[in-house]
Amino acid sequence: MNSISDLDSDQFFKDIKSFIEYHKEYFTVSSATFTVSNKSKSIIFDNHNMYDMENKNKMNSEADESLDQRGLLMFLKDVNVNKCVKCKLSETRKNIVFGEGNPSSKLMFIGEAPGAEEDNTGRPFVGRAGQLLTKIIESINLKRDDVYIANIIKCRPPQNRNPYEEEIKQCSPFLKEQIKIIRPKIICTLGKFSTEFIIGTDKETISIVRGKEFNYDGITVIPTYHPSYLLRNPDAKRETWEDMKKIRDLYFKAT
Ligand code: SF4
Repeated sequence: MNSISDLDSDQFFKDIKSFIEYHKEYFTVSSATFTVSNKSKSIIFDNHNMYDMENKNKMNSEADESLDQRGLLMFLKDVNVNKCVKCKLSETRKNIVFGEGNPSSKLMFIGEAPGAEEDNTGRPFVGRAGQLLTKIIESINLKRDDVYIANIIKCRPPQNRNPYEEEIKQCSPFLKEQIKIIRPKIICTLGKFSTEFIIGTDKETISIVRGKEFNYDGITVIPTYHPSYLLRNPDAKRETWEDMKKIRDLYFKAT
């Protein structure tokens, strides 16, 4: 039983139904009871058919039309990610850093993993590198709240070491779900790890691929340097500015 308060319960139940319908191929549980405030509902899931036990009716795919991205992200975070212990990073984290921003943004930034500040606060890109990322976003006339920001890895690797391949394998399905829910028009990958993950490992180094256009599931991808790299190598900011101008043009053209 999952208990979540301070939400509009009717909307939340609607989001749960939408989420299950949308992701039904991933569901293996056959029933679930959700309680919000004083309201409780049971949903039975059987052979890819879903039954709302209050109405005892099979639910139809009209749920697709009422998909609410914020609710779906909240569900993914609260139900799947927040208690995740799939890899050893769960043993040393203080907080899971799920991601934040506009859930229906046209533009998504993807980094590699949280650092110390992010681990303390549970928010992505809030340390020095994060402050620089905020400035980069504002340099193209957007606010941080206009975009969505996430990492491949949701828990901090000790001493900020690079994520291991196995950790990326375990954690990346959450990022893939986030992308599927948000459906951005443009993804800006920040640095080597997110770029390799999104465009494939057979590509060149970040200094070669940055600023070029790639495709991920119909989404335009433009890699650029990670803000931490820019803090260590301020001369590279000029190239990042060139990359951001491309992103700005695509953003304001995208419908
Ligand atoms: S890093 Fe990802 S896979 Fe590993 S425990 Fe955290 S949320 Fe789970």
